[in-house]
Amino acid sequence: MSFADQLVCKECGALYPVAALHVCERCFGPLEVHYDRDAQRGEVTRESIARGPADMFRYSALLPVDDRAPVSLRAGMTPLVRADRLASELGLGELYIKDDTRNPTGSFKDRVVSVALTKARELGFKVAACASTGNLANSVAAHAAAAGMQAVVFVPHDLESVKLLTTAVFGASLVALDGNYDDANRLCAELANEREDWAFVNVNLRPYYSEGSKTLAFEVAEQLGWELPDHVVVPIASGSQMTKIHKGFGELVELGLVAGRETGAVRVSGAQPDGCSPVATAFRAGADVVQPVKPSTIAKSLAIGNPADGWYALEVARSTGGVIESVSDDEIVDGIHLLARTEGIFAETAGGVTIATLRKLARAGVVRSDERVVAYVTGNGLKTVEALAGHLRLPPTVAPSLEAVYEALAREGVE
Ligand SMILES: *Cc1c(COP(=O)(O)O)cnc(C)c1O
Ligand SMILES: [Zn+2]
Repeated sequence: MSFADQLVCKECGALYPVAALHVCERCFGPLEVHYDRDAQRGEVTRESIARGPADMFRYSALLPVDDRAPVSLRAGMTPLVRADRLASELGLGELYIKDDTRNPTGSFKDRVVSVALTKARELGFKVAACASTGNLANSVAAHAAAAGMQAVVFVPHDLESVKLLTTAVFGASLVALDGNYDDANRLCAELANEREDWAFVNVNLRPYYSEGSKTLAFEVAEQLGWELPDHVVVPIASGSQMTKIHKGFGELVELGLVAGRETGAVRVSGAQPDGCSPVATAFRAGADVVQPVKPSTIAKSLAIGNPADGWYALEVARSTGGVIESVSDDEIVDGIHLLARTEGIFAETAGGVTIATLRKLARAGVVRSDERVVAYVTGNGLKTVEALAGHLRLPPTVAPSLEAVYEALAREGVE
């Protein structure tokens, strides 16, 4: 059995049963999973985790899932790469990349979806639905296929074509809307009221879904030998991932799984594209309200103009001594290129946002060379190759003779 015993309102503390609920009836605050921490303390040890599978379900005692055979495509336990070549370009010291390009459908969304669909199946749902900027659609479609569930996916019509094809291939029902993600999300909220028999992973299943992101913190700590980093840089769309990484580090401290650090001691900084930066804008203005924007950016996976957890992301940055910054589309492409040529990791635009923001924060002295830093790279570059069109030079064709080849190499500067 899971240690999740209740849902609790993040605003007023009202308690609810573990069911397909997501808003507080009293104050409309978001609901979050609550665990029996004392029971967890007795059971969860570094050794019990190490005995688990080599994927994110090694932390199932810290997740809201009962099922011993979860809906899983084996997401998680992605590499934590020591990035010395990137660090030296940025003037940093101990730098790591959490390489979540390596998940089954190529993004960190596989973590949240496997928790959401495991819970959905436990609760008896047969249909998994979502609004998506692309990666969530891919992941819901794949996990639903593996679980024998039907997937219904709502996306903005102008998505990268790869993300449409890699959703359709799993047999999902795709609805492309003449609108942006925020329109799709609003529509799903309306639909969720009518279709109580559908599991909307980021609406009525959101309390469970979002818990999957904690594994991004658990893995980093375990991969660092059960130590915490000093500073992490996380991309923000809805802000859920950033708040849950912070929560994940906090749980490890509460459970005594990491030594000698206070909760909140990990500085958590956020990264957004300039073309959709409502949280970064609020941070820079010192504001308490996140004003919605209309997105226009190549980082489509981060294009949420009205982020559900924007306010909580602000609070995480402020309370941990982190910052939230944004970068331009050109800087995003530079970020993709910089990571690829220094570390051999090809990230999608969201990864470009993280790396470009990391560079900006390193130059400003906010991310420091005496810190142990982790940058979360959350999606695979093969999904957003469009973003590189026109930015990389492709080679001219030459005759297949030694002479022509030496000439071509000389033009490339190869001795
Ligand atoms: C969805 C997504 C994010 C951001 O997730 P939130 O939890 O909504 O902030 C980051 N990176 C990639 C690649 C994504 O698909
Ligand atoms: Zn409430």
